[in-house]
Amino acid sequence: MASKIDSSEYTELNRVIGWFIVLRWIAFGGVAATLAAVRLLGLYELPFALLFAITGLLGLLNLSFTAWLRRGKRGVLSRRETAGIFHAQVVCDFVLLFFLVYFTGFLENPFCYFFVFHILLTAFIFNSRTVYAYAGALVVLIAGTFLAEYLGLVPHYRLWSATAGSYLGQNLPRAAGLVSILLISAYLITSIKRRLEEQGQRCEVELDRYKNLDKIKSNFILQVTHELRGPIAAVSGYHEMLLRGIGGQCTPKALDLLRKADHRTDNLLTIIDEMIDYAYMKSQEEVRPVRSRQGLRGVIEENLELLETQAAAKQITLAANCPKDLCVPATRDLLKIILGNLVHNAIKYSPPRSTVSVTAQAEGPEVHILVRDEGYGIEPEELEKIFDEFYRTRAARQLERDGTGLGLPIVKRAVESLAGRISVYSELGKGSTFHIFLPVLEAEDEQDPDHR
Ligand code: ADP
Repeated sequence: MASKIDSSEYTELNRVIGWFIVLRWIAFGGVAATLAAVRLLGLYELPFALLFAITGLLGLLNLSFTAWLRRGKRGVLSRRETAGIFHAQVVCDFVLLFFLVYFTGFLENPFCYFFVFHILLTAFIFNSRTVYAYAGALVVLIAGTFLAEYLGLVPHYRLWSATAGSYLGQNLPRAAGLVSILLISAYLITSIKRRLEEQGQRCEVELDRYKNLDKIKSNFILQVTHELRGPIAAVSGYHEMLLRGIGGQCTPKALDLLRKADHRTDNLLTIIDEMIDYAYMKSQEEVRPVRSRQGLRGVIEENLELLETQAAAKQITLAANCPKDLCVPATRDLLKIILGNLVHNAIKYSPPRSTVSVTAQAEGPEVHILVRDEGYGIEPEELEKIFDEFYRTRAARQLERDGTGLGLPIVKRAVESLAGRISVYSELGKGSTFHIFLPVLEAEDEQDPDHR
């Protein structure tokens, strides 16, 4: 059974064939117009009927190639058939161009140098051996015709009126020039291609090396942050106990210092949690987590509850609005990362006594989640950058000393790993809204007829 070409190869080949067809229509128009003009002006005595017939044949062939391209796009052609059609096109182009040039003065015609472009074009798709084979065939054809014309075996169609000097004297340098240009271009294009391929292979090796290093780095971050989290959480617990008076009465000065220490350890814990999420998200890129249908309302309420103390410290009202039965295919961890980070930021970058809300609604095949705040907002020119790793806006750096610039990149990765997308709308001084769109069905579900 004939093998089908794979999708990327098929798309690339069809793209090149489509491009060749466009080039051929341009050539067809150009040749037809030039012939008509030459005939009207009566510049040369040429076999016009034959030349128009060749041009017409070029148009007809291009029409049939267009039909083949349509079949190829529908995927009904095998790899061999597609490659065969492409070879047929290149051969037709060579033969037709050869006859057009032969009947219009051959080596006298400056358009004979167009063969060079043909060789360059073949190198776009064929390997070096095929390019050399085409160049070699052309050299033989040109040299053979040149010899045949010289020996009088075939007629020479003159382009220029008879000028002084012999045929050999006029045309030998032209033939030598054309042949050397053809060979040099074939050599140049194939060596450039080979070099690019070698560089591409080297880049792939380097990329693999960097990916490995990145993995080692993520694992290291994960281990270190896990080790740090335990003791720091314990220190935070001791601070709380002391603040509640469990360790005995403290002086007002000691209480003030304790509160400051508690605030700093809480910030440290947030940073550690972000680093853990960051390393976790990186590891999830390889291990695709098993997803199940998650009820959004429960997850939203859970996350808001976790951040209630942080909101209460600034007297910020947290609001949720989500239909009871709204579900998305996800993992609880990923939804927690997304909502936790966005709501945490909304509280962090909002003034006291404002409102932060999380709304979710079904919109066609997607669920649209909005995390809205009435905070300081983000400068328009910084909107694109906030999803970059370690980026913090200028205002954020002045307002909030603590922050890693990792929260939003983590959120973006989490959303994308669920085949969703995220965007932000913000107005300075009025607030920001983060929009998340998650598909209701998984990609496999969509293809499964039982789910339709
Ligand atoms: P950070 O640790 O600094 O909060 P994030 O990656 O979570 O890092 O956010 C990146 C930057 O995006 C923040 O430094 C802040 O400037 C901006 N930002 C994020 N969320 C908001 C928001 N709700 N309102 C205003 N600015 C925000």
